[in-house]
Amino acid sequence: MDGAQVTATAPVFILLGPPGAGKGTQARMLQDAHGFVQLSTGDLLRAAVAAGTDAGEAAKAVMEAGGLVSDEIVIAILKDRLGDEDCGHGVILDGFPRTTGQAEALDELLADAGQHINAAISLEVDDAAMVARISGRFTCGNCGEGYHDVHKPTAVLGTCDKCGGTHMKRRADDNAETVAQRLTEYHKQTAPLIDYYEGKGVLQSLDAMGEIDAIATTLSGMVREAAG
Ligand SMILES: [Zn+2]
Repeated sequence: MDGAQVTATAPVFILLGPPGAGKGTQARMLQDAHGFVQLSTGDLLRAAVAAGTDAGEAAKAVMEAGGLVSDEIVIAILKDRLGDEDCGHGVILDGFPRTTGQAEALDELLADAGQHINAAISLEVDDAAMVARISGRFTCGNCGEGYHDVHKPTAVLGTCDKCGGTHMKRRADDNAETVAQRLTEYHKQTAPLIDYYEGKGVLQSLDAMGEIDAIATTLSGMVREAAG
């Protein structure tokens, strides 16, 4: 065993899922249950800019000029972040990579660090059911209580059960057409990534239409196995 080196082998997971699939919630539950760190591109950029690292300074200059931060800069920021001590138990990437180019760059970065993608987990949704679920939401404009046309209607039509308020609000971007559009966009953008990770043999899929806790339990089992 002479000269044997300890390499960083912290597991790396990617969560894929359309808006409304509960990706953020599941990532937080994994974080709490396994000590993983959830890394989203937005958070990474903000933290790097705040810390004033070289890559953070580069990102800041691009953003101030109204430009899009390049893959190279994001990868450099991610590289810095993965070396931090709190990432030693593993990380969950949320919202990155978005393209196969980014996925390839990520693979290279991880290989350099002696790490690899343990699993890319796709939260699968039934598009029609998802449209019905999201587009049925409304809230009381007075007390903020949340309702749903089908799953949680008010006892008296148009009147809040909790406060009796009669001003119900619906978010403009929660209408059926917008939700369907977001899903179509997601599938278009994500299909190449799904293929990429399937080709690498690390793709796993999970039905994300059930109860949050049941999904979390299944996901937790998948992650434990893939981390092994
Ligand atoms: Zn109310």
